[in-house]
Amino acid sequence: MISQELSKLDYKRMHWMSLALALPVNGTGSKFPSTESCRVRLSRIRWPSGPTCIRCRWDDVGYLNLRKIFYCRSCHHQFSVTAGTFMHRSRIDLRMWFTAGEDFINAFARGNDPTGHSVSERYQISYAAAYRLKKLAKAELTKPEGGLFGIVGSQWIGILKKRERLGENHVSASCAKRSESEAAQG
Ligand SMILES: [Zn+2]
Repeated sequence: MISQELSKLDYKRMHWMSLALALPVNGTGSKFPSTESCRVRLSRIRWPSGPTCIRCRWDDVGYLNLRKIFYCRSCHHQFSVTAGTFMHRSRIDLRMWFTAGEDFINAFARGNDPTGHSVSERYQISYAAAYRLKKLAKAELTKPEGGLFGIVGSQWIGILKKRERLGENHVSASCAKRSESEAAQG
């Protein structure tokens, strides 16, 4: 008799498979080809109604284009799009984070677990940086629906809608739709 219960391993596989299936068909590289497009994508996912100050939550926030930094017009706090995320203070380019997220999802979905050395070789970064990259990316991707990585890389609005129902990140489906169409145009 076949057990009806799903094992922990089955759930793990389903998790990685669902993240892999949600990835853009032609890869994140074609959808978000530049650091700037990654920055715009991350900003729209984090703040679908426009950026809010990560310190005081004020929504009157300006942007210093040259330094790629937001500033709060209330408390004057300055912050980047990655501030407060697992990518905070990383020297790794945002484009590489996106690519690495996609690569890890695909590898884990195939049952592979890339070594620090292989990650170091692939992205031409030091072993220490590769180890940290993998550790942070895996911790984020292991979260329900792949955490911020899962949602950033996903082409499916359905996931954003589901998040909205759950009340996570206050992601608005209409804003998400808009950001998707804008991303497609840009
Ligand atoms: Zn503020």
